[in-house]
Amino acid sequence: MERILFLTIVLLISLATFLSPAQSLAQSDLERVSDTERSDGKGYVIRFHLTEAADSFKVRHPEPDLIQMMIYSDSLNPTDFIEPNNSPAIRNIEYHNNRSGFGLDIVLEEGQYFNMQTYPDRNNTDLLIALERTTEEIVNLNTANVDFIFWFNYQMDEPLVDVSLSDMDDSILKLRNGNGVNVIVLDAGHGGKDPGSINRRLGIYEKDIVLPIALKVGEYINTYMPDVKVVYTRDDDRFIDLGERGPIATRANGDLFISIHANSIANNTTAHGAEVYILGLARTEAALASMKRENSVASLGDSGAPMDLTENQLLIYELANAGNMAVSERLASMIEDQFSSRAQRRSRGVKQAGFQVLWDLPMPSVLIELGFITNPNEAKYMTSEYGQSILASAIFRAVRDFKEDLEKIRPSSTASND
Ligand SMILES: [Zn+2]
Repeated sequence: MERILFLTIVLLISLATFLSPAQSLAQSDLERVSDTERSDGKGYVIRFHLTEAADSFKVRHPEPDLIQMMIYSDSLNPTDFIEPNNSPAIRNIEYHNNRSGFGLDIVLEEGQYFNMQTYPDRNNTDLLIALERTTEEIVNLNTANVDFIFWFNYQMDEPLVDVSLSDMDDSILKLRNGNGVNVIVLDAGHGGKDPGSINRRLGIYEKDIVLPIALKVGEYINTYMPDVKVVYTRDDDRFIDLGERGPIATRANGDLFISIHANSIANNTTAHGAEVYILGLARTEAALASMKRENSVASLGDSGAPMDLTENQLLIYELANAGNMAVSERLASMIEDQFSSRAQRRSRGVKQAGFQVLWDLPMPSVLIELGFITNPNEAKYMTSEYGQSILASAIFRAVRDFKEDLEKIRPSSTASND
């Protein structure tokens, strides 16, 4: 409590200094989000401390524990607002910047049920959300037909980050056929008799998470990049041998191969975050563990013994495929960047390992571990419609930016393709 008081005083002093009378440039900012117990004891009030009035706002309550708020303003800077400390009602807040302002996902503590009402403070520029305790039944009823705000949609028409040509690696020119990105192969891991990783307590299988996400990525590509062809290694719950997936991509003349998986660690419910892999020598224990797990399903295959990639093979691969690897790594880091900055997921970085599914593909290829199925929160996120949309849009955006980058260097020559 003393700490909050101290922080508040520091904030007030710095505000007072900042807002001197001579201050003519009104810097609009979300300074802080706080919540306090209501004086009538019926719940809480969440306060959004704004230094300037927002143009307008929109609030939705699509899930009992999720409130979404879109604040419209053309100059609002929410990047470093102070989140509530030891909040009794709020678990965490995630913000999503976009062209029209910014969005906030306010995740409430589980097991508490509130009706909510939003209004601007009459005495200043703050916005308030009043939470009033109610029953689970009523909240379920109130939220049942409320759609999520998909921040992704708000971001669709946002200008692309300007990447200067000098940043570009020459190796990007070595893309297959020099034709740019015309065919993208989406590989949903596992399927059929191979469930992949399992969260037994929640009854969640990896194969059931990665398929809808792969299909969503494909939908986004079909919608927003209609000149790109999407090929799936599987688009339903069927088993496909690891050794079959590469040839599907090769036969389809794929320009990019994206394999989608979810992670697990035995007896660990706290590990979380996304990882993006390219083929190469595993340089960490975790990468090695992930590789062994994903490769082990080959033993279920119908086409003979699993292939074991030796260190030597991988070393030779690295030497022989430096160009392809650089392109893969570039795509991987763009995906990783989307996960951490846009999807607000913890990113565990780009890693290398000897994934059999990526072996000997004649195209840049990455393997994504979306998150940990053994972490209950992440497992629920990955199975929710909302989480799946966020993850799929992050992958889509990376692919779109990757293609844009490529075509800044050399216009795509799709017309000459057979
Ligand atoms: Zn997997």
